[in-house]
Amino acid sequence: DFALYFSKEKGRNRATLYDRGLEQRYRRRRDMQDELPVAIREGSLDIYFQPKVSLTDRAVTGFEALVRWHRKGGIVMPNEFIPLAEESGLIIELDLFILRRAAEIIAGWNKENGVALSVSVNLSALHLMSGKIVREVADALDATHLPPDLLTLEITESIELRDWARVQNTLLELRQLGCRISVEDFGAGFSSLAYLRAMNADELKIDQSLVSEIETSEEARFILDAVMDLAQNLAMSVVVEGIETEEQAAAIRQMGGSQAQGYLFGRPVPAEEALAATRPVELGETG
Ligand code: C2E
Repeated sequence: DFALYFSKEKGRNRATLYDRGLEQRYRRRRDMQDELPVAIREGSLDIYFQPKVSLTDRAVTGFEALVRWHRKGGIVMPNEFIPLAEESGLIIELDLFILRRAAEIIAGWNKENGVALSVSVNLSALHLMSGKIVREVADALDATHLPPDLLTLEITESIELRDWARVQNTLLELRQLGCRISVEDFGAGFSSLAYLRAMNADELKIDQSLVSEIETSEEARFILDAVMDLAQNLAMSVVVEGIETEEQAAAIRQMGGSQAQGYLFGRPVPAEEALAATRPVELGETG
């Protein structure tokens, strides 16, 4: 979908290829930027839950909360709007909405069913630096009565060196509240060991890019193996993300992996649907 147009630039005649698709994407982006604050406040954001399972018996131990945006009859995925929310700072409000709502849903479900499922939420680095996060997490725990150890805060982005002292302090306070800290996407990009050590986290999430290569790359297997050993030595629990096949699950089990997430066990689905699937089938319900 291209059009050719001519422009006069610095006195020269130039032909420029004009991409209508590009303009549409630009317009969509701008519209989303305008609509996002309203979407957060007026409730068109939704929480999907993806199960986290124990690899030994595939029992669901908890869920990761993933944001979705219902917009003009369709669903917008986080990869499209999280970067916009980060640019504008709205990510803090967004993450807070997900944190409160996810804690409320899980606490309610646990109480109703006499279970102790955990919930993981994503926190942006910006939020960690906001100076308000500890209070906000404490308030969310108070309001929902979710036991703190059932809440895991997943930290994704790398944090700039100059912010470290502050971040470490905040992470410490969050752990003192009793909730768990998880380092995400380890194995993607240039993850550093110093970073891992400084985070002093409870959990390490291994990125799906490593898992997807498990059958084709010996190197990927070596790295996975080494990272899992490292985590164990640092007394961190390991969650392997993005398991899609039985072969991948078997390989991860062989390496000693005990917890996983991935399409093989369950895709992210609306919260009610995800939770209903964890309810044990009662006698007589099957027929
Ligand atoms: P993430 O935290 O690493 O979440 C895992 C992503 O991998 C999810 O994508 C999930 O749908 C996808 N996934 C899970 N299992 C598989 C699998 O077996 N195969 C493949 N190919 N993909 C799988 P999703 O929901 O699109 O989220 C993308 C990212 O957006 C998340 O990555 C997270 O970084 C960010 N995000 C999502 N919700 C929030 C939120 O509430 N706040 C913040 N700050 N970020 C969020």
